[in-house]
Amino acid sequence: MAESLENLPPLREVIQTYDLGAKKSLGQNFLFDLNLTRKIARAANLGPNTHVIEIGPGPGGLTRALLEQDIIKLTAVERDQRCVNALNDYVKPVVGDKLEIIEGDALEIDPADITKAPRAIVANLPYNVATPLLIGWLQNATAYESMTLMFQKEVAMRITAEVGTKAYGRLSVLAQWLCECSRVFDVPASAFTPPPKITSSIVRLVPKVLGDDQPAIKTIEIVTGLAFGQRRKMLRQSLKSMVPDIQEFLKACGIEETLRADALSVDHYIKIAKAYEAGFNSSEMNF
Ligand code: SAM
Repeated sequence: MAESLENLPPLREVIQTYDLGAKKSLGQNFLFDLNLTRKIARAANLGPNTHVIEIGPGPGGLTRALLEQDIIKLTAVERDQRCVNALNDYVKPVVGDKLEIIEGDALEIDPADITKAPRAIVANLPYNVATPLLIGWLQNATAYESMTLMFQKEVAMRITAEVGTKAYGRLSVLAQWLCECSRVFDVPASAFTPPPKITSSIVRLVPKVLGDDQPAIKTIEIVTGLAFGQRRKMLRQSLKSMVPDIQEFLKACGIEETLRADALSVDHYIKIAKAYEAGFNSSEMNF
């Protein structure tokens, strides 16, 4: 039996031993290069008291790199029972209680329920559920010290997009309102087995500590949904259904009615959401 993480078998061998042929339905594109998974683990910049939650460990490439880090514990959530069995069989005996593996669907598990703070999420996400998972975690962003996540590059660009760019949209506003977001590095398709059709990117999100006077996430979702739902239309048209008099409303918010969704900063969206929540009344508006 391997006595340390360095002595574990190569991932290609693990795949053969445990018959872990990749399943497309589970978004399985595995990383075999431990130098790359170590680079991702280092980019997560984890603290020694941090309990790390990994979503979708698969055969364990990133898992092994995370276990090499100075962290308190790693809990991995995996839907594929084959991978759960493999990790329990070949990694757990080497690291003991530092690794916990939960068999389950990450869409139905709140990582904040797994352990107390400080917690961080690190994952090479299955592409088919990556965005809903992120949106779910953002609902309770301050539960985490950080989230270091692999997305398809196009989604990573949307998360980190600047105002006025083509990629700027609902996800940019939501993520950048709640977190500092940075695209750390790209990973070519050739790094994965099987290789996907697209390039991937690692994004690091560090939740912000925001004041108490924030609008509800739901309100931001409504406002950005309306604005970007008709992104080519001027705000006086796209936001028309929000209030009885949209022109007066936008004027009171100090926002030009002829602008389009992609011209508004995160602060503008917060202003609109707060005005909407306050129950727009121009005589009482006080920004
Ligand atoms: N971390 C591994 C790596 O980097 O090689 C595997 C990454 S692979 C892109 C995504 C992993 O997420 C797969 O192991 C897959 O079985 C798992 N997965 C897919 N959907 C899941 C879900 N809803 N909940 C938990 N794990 C899931």
